[in-house]
Amino acid sequence: MSNPDDCVFCALYRGKAESSTVFRNNRVMAAMTIQPTHVGHVLLFPALHVEDFALLDQESLGYLFHVAGRLKAAVCAAIPCQGFQLLINQGEGTRQRENCRHLHVHLMPCSLNVPVEEGARRAEVPRTQLDEIAQQIARRLDVGAAFAVR
Ligand SMILES: [Zn+2]
Repeated sequence: MSNPDDCVFCALYRGKAESSTVFRNNRVMAAMTIQPTHVGHVLLFPALHVEDFALLDQESLGYLFHVAGRLKAAVCAAIPCQGFQLLINQGEGTRQRENCRHLHVHLMPCSLNVPVEEGARRAEVPRTQLDEIAQQIARRLDVGAAFAVR
């Protein structure tokens, strides 16, 4: 298992790395990726350092995907799109860096104007722009009472 002390996602969750945060509570965090495949590309991850989604307990996994669903609605309300992708990379074969092996879900709006393969060419986006998009999504995010933290 990778080391949580060297983990980018643990650092983001603990506020030890700069982020454009969309949502954070004691169980999960959502933030913009610095190298989006499409405008509005969000990463959602559990507070707990776990590499394999199959090792996350059922209730936590369910909560993660409930929030993912709410985030999808907020992203689609904020960013014009004609489709959506969810992606979880796991293992060396996905070319994940050692310090990124913390379960995270990519939420990626897709546009007919930007082919998926073209969107996959990543370019860093300025922090100010990521912060602005994060705020647009956060304003539209309704986690609702059903998602209250227990
Ligand atoms: Zn971690």
